[in-house]
Amino acid sequence: MYDVNSKHAEDFINHEEILETLAYADENRHNSVLIDSLIEKAKKRKGLSHREASVLLACDLEEKNQEIFKLAEQIKKDFYGNRIVMFAPLYLSNYCVNGCTYCPYHAKNKHIARKQLTQEEIRREVIALQDMGHKRLALEAGEDPVRNTMEYYLDCINTIYSIKHKNGAIRRVNINIAATTVDNYRLLKEAGIGTYILFQETYHKESYLNLHPTGPKHDYDYHTEAMDRAMEGGIDDVGVGVLFGLDKYRYEFAGLLMHAEHLEAAFGVGPHTISVPRLRDADDIDSSEFKNGIDDDTFAKLVACIRIAVPYTGMIISTRESQKTRERVLHLGISQISGGSRTSVGGYCEPEPDAKKSEQFDVIDTRTLDEVVCWLMEMGYIPSFCTACYREGRTGDRFMSLCKSGQIQNCCHPNALMTLKEYLTDYASPKTKAIGDKLIEKEVLNVPNEKARAVVLENLRLIEQDNRR
Ligand code: SAM
Repeated sequence: MYDVNSKHAEDFINHEEILETLAYADENRHNSVLIDSLIEKAKKRKGLSHREASVLLACDLEEKNQEIFKLAEQIKKDFYGNRIVMFAPLYLSNYCVNGCTYCPYHAKNKHIARKQLTQEEIRREVIALQDMGHKRLALEAGEDPVRNTMEYYLDCINTIYSIKHKNGAIRRVNINIAATTVDNYRLLKEAGIGTYILFQETYHKESYLNLHPTGPKHDYDYHTEAMDRAMEGGIDDVGVGVLFGLDKYRYEFAGLLMHAEHLEAAFGVGPHTISVPRLRDADDIDSSEFKNGIDDDTFAKLVACIRIAVPYTGMIISTRESQKTRERVLHLGISQISGGSRTSVGGYCEPEPDAKKSEQFDVIDTRTLDEVVCWLMEMGYIPSFCTACYREGRTGDRFMSLCKSGQIQNCCHPNALMTLKEYLTDYASPKTKAIGDKLIEKEVLNVPNEKARAVVLENLRLIEQDNRR
């Protein structure tokens, strides 16, 4: 039975409820009176339920879809301005005991080069990332309870936070590792992680069981209830996601929103971020063998509908997507992107093609961080290296209430400008720096409060003179 408050996966991601939702959405996909009323409701920026948002996703009235895109764009502007937060993944280990049929890390893959970074190798990788200008990482690893232990992860996190190199320091370490226990989540929290990220892959239980035939990840309930345990362990920023292409996207969309509704109902705070990866070719994985892939138009609609349904949740897009696709969806709701990513273990130091043998998926956007930053600024976005919320303790429900009331903008905009200035001064190419300095000059005028603007201008001057506060 569907119960948003229940801690059991089968209740809060209830299959019958999803089927009823999809039937309701289908019946109403041309119901312009209902669709208009949902768009009006969404304009209040308080989000929509999974049922309501599913109707908008199913809607195929061209004129209404244009309104949906327009509203998503406006909501994105209102909540996130023109800032895009930058991050990079760091692959720690590709040892894995699971049998996921879509992932090249699966245990039966004998020709992929297996590797687990030592603490010394992590130092080298992190210095390479710092030299690019990154301040925020997402740690990634396969699931191997013997090799990739919690102790190993804690050592990695400590190592990363302790590396001071030139002007670089990683200020926020997020982590994307297999579902674990409340005690382990508590240890991750104590080690100072930012967001705990875990993709559901698919909310469809039967498909999930087939796609994860062996290994601990086969346990659908344990996986689906992981965010509850993470929150019980004190982690208040959790990042959810679906791997689009595994099952029908409308089923996944409803499941994703039900998951968000459940976390909000049970813990008072919804997911901090939603990721929207699409399945890609990888070592021994041919994505065309999976029959639920979605085209770029559907992908854009999906991003827009997520933005409208959960306006205050960050949305992440990785280098699984091309420059063109990223360009298309950025303004519809994306708030974080990766840049200069390597998805192989040791890939930031090891020259290709050796590292390629351990890649998790083929990176499509292969540009450097400098190129990505420059491209964003040329489109009028402010690439942000800010991690202030995390350092100031503005996480979890405190973050959400600030964000919901629109207040987060007052500090995010100046912080984004100052961290961008640091990036430009320390790492950027002359072309990127010139474009960035012009952008900052213009954007500083948008700091609403005169006193605050004076402080920002003074800080920007100090950064330029390499005299930081
Ligand atoms: N082992 C952890 C777990 O069980 O969730 C972390 C997983 S992995 C390092 C990160 C994500 O990559 C997975 O959750 C999956 O969604 C995604 N992934 C796996 N294979 C992929 C592929 N062929 N194309 C795109 N993304 C893929």
